[in-house]
Amino acid sequence: MIQYSLKCAEDHRFDSWFQSAEAFEKLRKSRLISCAVCGSDSVEKAIMAPRVNPSGTTAERPLSKPRSPAEQALSNLRKHLEKNSDYVGQDFVREARAIHDGDAPERPIWGEARRDEAKKLIQDGIKIAPLPFFPVRKTN
Ligand SMILES: [Zn+2]
Repeated sequence: MIQYSLKCAEDHRFDSWFQSAEAFEKLRKSRLISCAVCGSDSVEKAIMAPRVNPSGTTAERPLSKPRSPAEQALSNLRKHLEKNSDYVGQDFVREARAIHDGDAPERPIWGEARRDEAKKLIQDGIKIAPLPFFPVRKTN
């Protein structure tokens, strides 16, 4: 797609998108391009250098950029965890130990642990894995 700044015989200026330079010429010669203001069909390019839209879509831009694949993957992982495992928050270390010792029902859990606490769990042979994100803390 190519955007041209156009003007009519009355010097009204407006922007319009065309498939290609050839398409623009064809439409102009057939007098199929008309002024957005007065409807005159004697329209020509106001500026010779066209702006090219590399994405090939219209000039409209989404208000928020789509999320990157990495962000999307994290979001999916988080949703999966929230659905399939218990969030135990600050009780993570105690709970992980209880599950390991058979004092709590075996189930997937996730929560928060300090680095040294997490290290201790691993040293004790308790299987834990760091998550690539932090749970949203409730603020009081
Ligand atoms: Zn006009």
